[in-house]
Formats: sequence, structure tokens, C-alpha cells
Amino acid sequence: MKAVFFYWSFIAADTERVLDDLARWTNIDTLLICQREGSEEAGMMLPDAGALGGLPVPIAPAAFERTMAVIELARTKGFAVAGHVNPLYGCPKTLRHLNCRSLAPAQPPADNDVIWACPHHPEAVSYGQAVTRALIEAWPVDLMEINHVEYPMYGDSLGGYANCFCDHCYARAAAQGIDLGAIERLLTTLLGQLNRGALADRWLDELTGSPLLAQWLAFRTGSVTQYVETIVAAARAAAATHRPNLKIGLDPFLPSALQLVGIDLAALHPLFDWLAPKFPDYLTGWMIPNIADWIAGPGNDSTAQRQALRDLLDLGPQPPQYEPMKIAMEEMLYCNTADPSTIDRQMPYLSHLREKTAMYPWLWLYDRDLELLRRKVQTLERHGFDGYCLWLWPEDMTGSALQEARGIF
Ligand SMILES: [Zn+2]
Repeated sequence: MKAVFFYWSFIAADTERVLDDLARWTNIDTLLICQREGSEEAGMMLPDAGALGGLPVPIAPAAFERTMAVIELARTKGFAVAGHVNPLYGCPKTLRHLNCRSLAPAQPPADNDVIWACPHHPEAVSYGQAVTRALIEAWPVDLMEINHVEYPMYGDSLGGYANCFCDHCYARAAAQGIDLGAIERLLTTLLGQLNRGALADRWLDELTGSPLLAQWLAFRTGSVTQYVETIVAAARAAAATHRPNLKIGLDPFLPSALQLVGIDLAALHPLFDWLAPKFPDYLTGWMIPNIADWIAGPGNDSTAQRQALRDLLDLGPQPPQYEPMKIAMEEMLYCNTADPSTIDRQMPYLSHLREKTAMYPWLWLYDRDLELLRRKVQTLERHGFDGYCLWLWPEDMTGSALQEARGIF
């Protein structure tokens, strides 16, 4: 599988042109189409709300019809199509009451915050099951990838990672004999000390050396595993009836960081037909610099904190100079923080699974740096991968941009 994320803008317009250019200039054979059109305000691409069990989820029947026509057209041109499903991340605003409770930012979430549902919330489980089931019933595809089934990652501070502390999490923790209140108090104290600079150079030891925080990470991992098992069971049951050839894949985060977001690949991989681990430039080019800056405090040099976080995640040495992005893309700050050696360093975290499951890692293209993407693709090939998932930007999918990419992907 050589897949690309297919923007709603290309479903709404310019479809045939981009399909023909992908076929002519690239090796892309699979399109990944999201469950929702465009923005998070937009509706779910379903024909009606019948399969959603009364959940307050907006639907977009016209967008659904358009997407079905695009899937048909793509197939006639030889592409496979996968539904790209986010059951926890980016929930509609009507489900904001499902949002994880972080120690920061303040609750309830602001209007522009992404809604990232708590895997313990019973309604989040119902939503995840209903959406995957509804898509399997309605979309004529043989592939479905499940993305962002993990605890939230917010890029602006460490407090945004400290979740979830909602009533449902408290109840589940208590049932397992875990004192979530003690964990919340410890994290609040540590984050407060960090914020005041009171932990100095000890911050990483304090965070990684705490048995209580290790217990908390294990609790979260068990929660996500249980949530994913429930969602995939519903998906497999729906597929048995409606889509017997359906294959289901999982998009886990950077392999060395999985424990921090609640993912246990050893437990989850048997549920899936393939895995698409991420090698996300935005981790080193946005999240780590932001978090390190927050730890160092306003106006202070954060070089040591950036390197400590990179060391924690086996990301190798940071660049001597951080180069700003030339093209503004989402929240990315720097363009020179990730190179193919990141892939090499992450391989030991995947080696125990390589024989057991198909893998098509995620790669990103930023700043139109096709040479860097070429080296990443070659690195994957050197490690024996025969496919990948690509995140390109709309400007990377114009006719001339795709022609320029000839021979790279
Ligand atoms: Zn919760």
C-alpha cells in the first residue's frame, strides 16, 4: 500500500485532475478519506443519522453522496480507498462533554479546542462504535484505518498531556485499586514546580522516576487497549455482515513514544490487519520545542530541555541551529529537526512486530522538501518496508507539484 491522505477540497473539486496526476506521476495506489468533510464543524459523511443511535452528531448527506461518487471514480482509475476514522480525536463540538479533563488547559474546552474524547466515557465508547459501524455499512471500501486512539497530545505545554481526570476515569481507577487523586495531586505539584523553575535540572528524573506516574501510564494503556478492543469488535461484527473483505489498520504514534499516550502495540497488533506507525516531523519541529520552552520558562534558553526530550524518545541530536519553516503549515515551527536517522533510531521499537504484521509507516512532507522525503522513503525501503502512508499538503498535489515528485513516491 502506498497511500496518501485525500483532502476534502479534492473531493469537493478538482477530483479527476488530481486522481489523474497521482496515477501519472506517482506510485500512490490508495486514497485515505476522512469520515468528515473539511473542518471539525462539518458533518459526518453518512446518508442519514439512523446508525448513530440518537447521538447528537451532525451529518452531511450531500457530502456523503459526493464522496461516494469520488470513491467510484477512484476505483475506475485503479485506486483503492480507505476510510480514515478518528473515533476519539476531533469529535464534533456537540460531543464536547466527552472531552478528556486535562490539568491544562482549563475546562470546559474553548470553542476552538479540538474535542478529544475520554476512552472511559461510556458515550465516547458508544460514539466510537456507532461511527465505525455506520461507516462500514455506508462506505463501499475494503480498507479502514483507525487514527488517534490514544490520550490527547497538545503542543503548547506539558499540562495538556496530563489527562484524563474525569469522573469516569476516577471510577475506573478506583475499581482497579489505583488512587487517581494522588496521581492528579502529584502531577499538579510537579507541573507547578516546573512552571516556577523549582525543579531545575531534575524535572525529567522527577517525571520518569515516579512509581506513581509509571502506574498512571500503565492504567492509561490498559484503558486504551480496552477501548480499542471494543471499537474493533464492533467494526469486525459490522464487517462480517456488510463488508466481508474489510481490512482494518491502526495508526499508532511514534514507536518510542507510545507508552506516553497509552498505546501497547504488543496487545493491539493482533486486532489489526496492518499498522501505520508515525514518524511525525511535527513532534521535533513543534511539540518538543514548545514543551521545552515551557519547561525552561519565558525568555530562557531551552537547548538542554529540547535535547533531554529528544533523548527520552530516542530522537538523536538536535540541529545546531533551528531553521524556521519557509512555508507556514499548521503549527510547525522548524523545518530541520527530523531526518531519516529518526527512522533508523525507531526501528528497534518495531522489530519484534515486523514478522507479525504488515506495516506502512506514515511520513510527512513539509516545506516542499522533496529531497528529504526521498531520503525518508529510501530509508523505509532499506528497512524492508514495501509501502507507506503520506501526508502531503494541498500545494503538494497540484499538477506541477506532483510532476516534480516523480520518482520519489
Ligand atoms: Zn476520563
